[in-house]
Amino acid sequence: MTTAYVYDFTEGSREQAGLLGGKGANLAEMTRLGLPVPPGFTVGTNACRAFLRTGSVPEGLDGEIAAHLKRLEQLTGRRLGQADDPLLVSVRSGARFSMPGMMDTILDVGLNDASVIGLAKSTGRERFAWDSYRRLVQMYGATVLGIDAARFEAVLTRRRRQVGAGDDLGLDARQLAETVREFQAIIHAATGREFPQDPREQLRRAVVAVFESWNGERAAVYRRREHIAADLGTAVNIQVMVFGNLGPDSGSGVAFTRDPGTGRPGVYGDYLADAQGEDVVSGVRDALALDELEHLDPDSYARLRAHLRLLEAHYRDLCDVEFTIERGRLWVLQTRVGKRTPEAAFRIACALVDEGMITWPEALSRVNAEQLDHLTFPRFDADPDTPILAHGVPASPGAAVGAVVFDVAEAVRRAEAGEHVVLVRHETSPDDLPGMIAAEAVLTGRGGKTSHAAVVARGMGKVCVCGAAELDIDPEHHRFTTADGIVIEEGTVVSVDGTAGTVHLGALPLVASPVTRYLETGTRTPGIVDAVARCLEQADEIRRMDVLANADTPEDAARARRYGARGIGLCRTEHMFLGARRRLVEDMILARTDAERDATLAALLPLQREDFTRILAAMDGLPVTIRLIDPPLHEFLPDHTESAVRIARAQALGQPPNPRDLRLHEAGELLHEENPMLGLRGVRLALAVPGLIATQVRAVAEAVVARVRAGGDPRAEIMIPLVATEAELRIVRPEVERVLAEVRARTGIDVDCPIGTMIELPRAALTAGEIARSADFFSFGTNDLTQTTWGLSRDDAEASFLAAYLEQGILSVSPFETIDRDGVGRLVRIGVDQGRATTPNLRIGVCGEHAGDPDSIHFFHDCGVDYVSCSPYRLPGARLEAARAAIAARHNRAEPAPTEPQPD
Ligand code: ADP
Ligand code: MG
Ligand code: MG
Repeated sequence: MTTAYVYDFTEGSREQAGLLGGKGANLAEMTRLGLPVPPGFTVGTNACRAFLRTGSVPEGLDGEIAAHLKRLEQLTGRRLGQADDPLLVSVRSGARFSMPGMMDTILDVGLNDASVIGLAKSTGRERFAWDSYRRLVQMYGATVLGIDAARFEAVLTRRRRQVGAGDDLGLDARQLAETVREFQAIIHAATGREFPQDPREQLRRAVVAVFESWNGERAAVYRRREHIAADLGTAVNIQVMVFGNLGPDSGSGVAFTRDPGTGRPGVYGDYLADAQGEDVVSGVRDALALDELEHLDPDSYARLRAHLRLLEAHYRDLCDVEFTIERGRLWVLQTRVGKRTPEAAFRIACALVDEGMITWPEALSRVNAEQLDHLTFPRFDADPDTPILAHGVPASPGAAVGAVVFDVAEAVRRAEAGEHVVLVRHETSPDDLPGMIAAEAVLTGRGGKTSHAAVVARGMGKVCVCGAAELDIDPEHHRFTTADGIVIEEGTVVSVDGTAGTVHLGALPLVASPVTRYLETGTRTPGIVDAVARCLEQADEIRRMDVLANADTPEDAARARRYGARGIGLCRTEHMFLGARRRLVEDMILARTDAERDATLAALLPLQREDFTRILAAMDGLPVTIRLIDPPLHEFLPDHTESAVRIARAQALGQPPNPRDLRLHEAGELLHEENPMLGLRGVRLALAVPGLIATQVRAVAEAVVARVRAGGDPRAEIMIPLVATEAELRIVRPEVERVLAEVRARTGIDVDCPIGTMIELPRAALTAGEIARSADFFSFGTNDLTQTTWGLSRDDAEASFLAAYLEQGILSVSPFETIDRDGVGRLVRIGVDQGRATTPNLRIGVCGEHAGDPDSIHFFHDCGVDYVSCSPYRLPGARLEAARAAIAARHNRAEPAPTEPQPD
């Protein structure tokens, strides 16, 4: 038989999921393995694609289906629609990727007013026959004819009520027969046509309905969320029906080869006696634990266990199956590599390695950073079905409890007094940082997953729910009002669930994650902690890229080390100018003479030296890349309007304004920039404020000296930000070298810091070949590179159009979350290639937010980047993904390894 579209279960295999869909390919695979699969065949996804393209069933498909159906009829000795002993089939959707419950399946096709009698006779069960017919007419009406399912449900509910029955089992054959006639009347009224009595018409239209369900709303939404392509189409499986509802020696169930919740080995699942498969899944009746089957039907149970063992060994992974027992005979209706929780994923991966079933690279390719993330955040212990105050974007997962506060000062004050607080803001800005640090969680009314609040909170491992637009936040009166009108005053305790994106009233109980405890303390316990630890150790062996941390304080540096950092790839110095030292920076900005400025710089020097010394100590023996000061000066000045108000108030009271206020106000005016992101910052600042670089470099060099004298092994590196042209480096670099040489001469200690640059402007990437002549290393600042490549500022974009872009599909993911491979990524590639053309072994890293993002990490690996540097909390995930990237790259390389036999 020449086939274009239709394949018997005996023809296919699991490699053919693209054509046969996951369900069809696995049904074929199980058939090949000799498992008891009811016979059937698969209409390929190519037929669906043709249908979706043209709007009609492709030529020849009907003929192929008829031919395969004939074979089924010969095999079973029954015919579709045969009046005495009819063949019934199911028509099941099944796409390339599992989309559970998203598309349609129609059971019991082949029944009509005559064959239902035949089925009753051949099985000896009248009630069963009418119940099957009832199911067919109902599913056909709702799915194929598109009639509102509620209309059928309403009839059933009314009938159940009439006889006082709790569920459908309370309806007898006569009542079910009447229900069928009512259903048929609904169909006639809605469509003007009778329910088709011709089983071939039923079949044909059911197939079309499955094709069409590909474009159903549910399926489309699911695909978008799971990033499944919209044009794959679904396969359709037509399979001989088996019946789990033929009495107490029949039943249906779902089984897993291991516990998908915890990964523990051992058969696990649900069983429902005297039921069809869909009754188990839909939860209409309470299922039994699978173990019960051992007592009910030991023979089927033993067989099932053997099948599960076979499947797990064959797929070398956790599998789940749907099975049905028809009068003591076991049938397997579906299998797939099963979905699992993050905990189960890690435990199963390790267990399968231990059992010799898979290798470590395979194990690591089955776990990921997202799952690891989930394991590191604390959770609410109780089922959080306490009333929900607000919903928002689950921006940074985890669970936190605290008193609501509305401003930074209050947050800091309460936190210092030992209270846990939740900072609530319309949105956050860098000014809120101290408050965010003080808070257990951040809740905002505006902004999405990459808003300032979200990014910073994730970086700090803080819980964050943002964009809770339904809240009316009123910082002035220190309260917010929920959609239900509940007013929450400052100090009220709430629970913020960053995993679910919800806020609850009161304190839900919390449990610390054992994985976090392990990362913080190294305490290793059996179970999930051991599994995670082993995977991370293996990842460190396998990865090519190094994983460093972004850390600005000695505390962060120490944590980064515990979390597996191989150094600091970005130590930002500007945070060291905040707090009490801010006044010194103000003085520096206000300085009128060189002497004034030198004095303030001299005051800063020892403070900076102390910072660097402690950070170098925490990272002894590992590189610490110190970036010279970057942000625009005006960020260090008080709010411009505030100073204006203070001055005006003084004038109104007839008092002379504070002279410092006046000068700060003036300076603010001078330094005000329409778009500070593009303004006086980075290397430009170094060139504009004489002495600033020298002070910072001196602080670094003297810290190195101090560490060497203390017997340490400091590895400081100096990094110049926001370089656009090699000319800038040609001026700054000698200045840095001069200071290093001076300290060397003065102390006799060899301070030899590599001097590198950030590549964070398109021009820098495009001229990286020249820049490499003056830089010892590159580090891509992908945040700024994304902003400048796209010509948008992150915070503005977040606040205005980014959400709309994502919704309209202009972007599929925020470019601040995952590197935009085609644009920004292209610049990264150019930068890497040009830099290495000048200096072949140029060390190249990435230190933007993207350095902790799994997809971006894979991209950087492929670009040949040497290391990624991310926030300490993202380190474990980055270690894992760097290894996964190396494994995937090995896998994707077309040429087989030399030791492997060549395919013939
Ligand atoms: P889904 O992909 O939503 O799970 P399925 O195609 O697996 O849809 O079918 C829905 C239910 O119907 C499942 O419980 C399945 O086991 C059951 N089912 C499907 N085909 C048959 C059949 N030929 N005999 C008995 N039950 C079936
Ligand atoms: Mg199924
Ligand atoms: Mg930058």
